[in-house]
Amino acid sequence: MKLPRTPVREQAPQVRSTNFEEVCYGYNQQEAVLEAARCLQCKKPGCVTQCPVSIQIPQFIEEVKKGDFATAAQIIAQDSSLPAVCGRVCPQETQCEGKCILGVKGESVAIGKLERFVADWAAANVNAAPSLPPANGKRVAIVGSGPAGLACASDLAKMGYEVKIFEALHKPGGVLEYGIPEFRLPKQKVVEHEIDNVKKLGVSIETNVVIGRTLTIDQLLDSEKFDAVFIGSGAGLPKFMNIAGENLNGVVSANEFLTRANLMKAYLAEYDTPIYVGKKVAVVGGGNVAMDAARTALRLGAEVSIVYRRSENELPARREEVHHAKEEGITFYMLTNPVEVLGTDKGWVRALRCLRMELGEPDASGRRSPIAIAGSEFEIDTDVVIMALGTSPNPLIKDTTKGLESNRYGCLVADNQGLTTRPGVFAGGDVVSGAATVILAMGAGRTSAKAIDQYLSPEKSAN
Ligand SMILES: Cc1cc2nc3c(=O)[nH]c(=O)nc-3n(C[C@H](O)[C@H](O)[C@H](O)COP(=O)(O)OP(=O)(O)OC[C@H]3O[C@@H](n4cnc5c(N)ncnc54)[C@H](O)[C@@H]3O)c2cc1C
Repeated sequence: MKLPRTPVREQAPQVRSTNFEEVCYGYNQQEAVLEAARCLQCKKPGCVTQCPVSIQIPQFIEEVKKGDFATAAQIIAQDSSLPAVCGRVCPQETQCEGKCILGVKGESVAIGKLERFVADWAAANVNAAPSLPPANGKRVAIVGSGPAGLACASDLAKMGYEVKIFEALHKPGGVLEYGIPEFRLPKQKVVEHEIDNVKKLGVSIETNVVIGRTLTIDQLLDSEKFDAVFIGSGAGLPKFMNIAGENLNGVVSANEFLTRANLMKAYLAEYDTPIYVGKKVAVVGGGNVAMDAARTALRLGAEVSIVYRRSENELPARREEVHHAKEEGITFYMLTNPVEVLGTDKGWVRALRCLRMELGEPDASGRRSPIAIAGSEFEIDTDVVIMALGTSPNPLIKDTTKGLESNRYGCLVADNQGLTTRPGVFAGGDVVSGAATVILAMGAGRTSAKAIDQYLSPEKSAN
């Protein structure tokens, strides 16, 4: 008889919508072992091929089933430096779990929840210092401490390189620290703990250094004597709609809103960080960023709606986030496109003028394109509009580095190993792909670590 997927415990929607504590409690040992027993241990596991960092999923699940969580953690650690993060935020439904054979006729194994369980268990129970190879005398500089930079740094440190990360903000972690909210990804318990593990590998992190201002890439290579550079500076530049009224007071980018809430801790009473939600907030967009901004605004006391121009089928956010947002009472205006932000005579937002849409033929993204329905105009009353329409890379690094090229989207040009148009300079993550996912950024960081090793130690491949 097939066992059903083991349910995971969560805070009740009406309770969690008023606090910033983690929504999902994760599995306990008994639940994890029960869920692990559902894995069929496929000979050709599709889950592994769909994982951008190729975690040996059946192997770690088998150890969970036996109750050997320490070995399970070691297996995951071979391929991932951020398992507690990925277990919480990866879009498993389209990656590992999407290829689980059990999912064809029923429910896939809860691979993400098992990964999270193992990582949390290891954080609480394992404190062994990692064994490292002797230093090889070569130095690599990493720009940015998000998932791409951290993954690249970890792999290089494990190969014996001296690695230093330069981070523009005052805290490392990239989007994990300033973007994804506490109720989805606890900062101290998860993000800071996993960054500490990277530091235990010997990686040093210098914060408050903006590469392109404080130091340039050319200086890192010339006067600072680094042998190679990896750029993992992300895509932090927000996009706007360019519609009338966007300059009114009360229109903000999701990036700014979430940075104030997360990194600057605006949600804690003891912090005096300015943030405004008014009574009603409309969030424009349908990705993870839109869900995070909406659920943060809800917890700060506003009535919140999401405005998205396609239908629910096309929502790019993780399914779990959409489900949680609905449970918490967020209103979804689907097939709705804002055309103007309307203001009061004092210059503050008062409403969003929108058109209803229908779906036409697929566009370049493969999704059916939205077409406006004539005469369908209506207004959504709101005090604040949060734009969550995607981001692109900041041009600062490209503009201050000789020989670096970017494409028409502002992303750095790099080959499939991450080598840019400047010898010795590699790049990966959102700065190359445009806004994507944590695990893809980590995968790119790992690929570049291998390429940097081949570039700096060619004798290894010759032997
Ligand atoms: C709100 C939000 C929610 C998300 N939710 C999910 C999710 O649920 N699941 C998922 O998989 N993905 C999610 N993503 C996407 C994911 O977080 C990103 O794809 C990922 O973080 C990209 O990693 P990165 O290392 O390339 O860049 P980032 O995480 O952006 O890190 C780049 C780092 O570089 C630093 N930097 C930039 N310029 C410089 C400079 N000149 N000098 C020095 N440092 C610099 C930045 O300060 C930052 O710390 C979300 C993104 C956001 C914004």
